[in-house]
Amino acid sequence: MHRVALGDFELTAVSDGIYRLDGGGLFGVVPKTLWERKVKADGNNLVPVGLNSVVVRTGSKTVLIETGIGNKLSEKMITRYGQPAKLLENLSAAGMAPEDIDIVINTHLHFDHCGWNTVRQGETVVATFPRAKYYVQEGEWRHAHENQRDAISYLAENYDPLLESGQMMLLRGDAEIVPGIAVGVFPGHTRDMQAVLVRSREQTACYISDLIPTSAHLDLNWVMSYDLFPLQTIESRKRYYAQALPQKWLTMFTHDPTLPWACLAKDRKGKLVVSEQEAASGSN
Ligand SMILES: [Zn+2]
Repeated sequence: MHRVALGDFELTAVSDGIYRLDGGGLFGVVPKTLWERKVKADGNNLVPVGLNSVVVRTGSKTVLIETGIGNKLSEKMITRYGQPAKLLENLSAAGMAPEDIDIVINTHLHFDHCGWNTVRQGETVVATFPRAKYYVQEGEWRHAHENQRDAISYLAENYDPLLESGQMMLLRGDAEIVPGIAVGVFPGHTRDMQAVLVRSREQTACYISDLIPTSAHLDLNWVMSYDLFPLQTIESRKRYYAQALPQKWLTMFTHDPTLPWACLAKDRKGKLVVSEQEAASGSN
């Protein structure tokens, strides 16, 4: 388990497991001869992809960022992606039950980011985290119903039952969720994807989600094929690095299979690199 203190807060990385995606989807126009130096593909060109959620304990609130793939995929989707469904057991191993979660933040509503928002209970679908309020951008929820290029990535049962029950709040732009935890919109992957900023005692961590999905995607131009607005991804990354590098933010990676967070820096040639791994900041 990966755990680290951030000021007065505590961050715990909890994984929903590893699934597999096509390497071309993950690295877009980057030639395989380049990305394969960082990530090995199998015989079907699939590469391992992490599903990293993060729990922030502020002292008064327990906040879960992102909920993985969940356990409601169709047989067809399970054949394509697998369904590791490890989040609840990893939460339990970290000493937390679903009832302990006060707030869930979804950066966007693709199925691999909000799957454990809900579970099936007989004929109905209910909140996995019964006491929690859930937060996402209103524009993202609208896009999920627009039936556009990425429609295959949206499963309404991950969020619509929560709107019906009154548990999901739709945000319009940047917002503070609780003291020390805020969301900020970084367009590119989708138009309304939000990052989660966690701040305590001058230290900042940011769950930047699919804007920089793994530590192999630090280069401005290594943009995923899935991104709806790739040029905006590059602009949003520039805006992110302009704050995160000088202020030494801890960047949390949604899809890195081994590294849930790291501090970033530029090396002598100006190339973006991982500067401090989590070990340096006291996790186990
Ligand atoms: Zn996504």
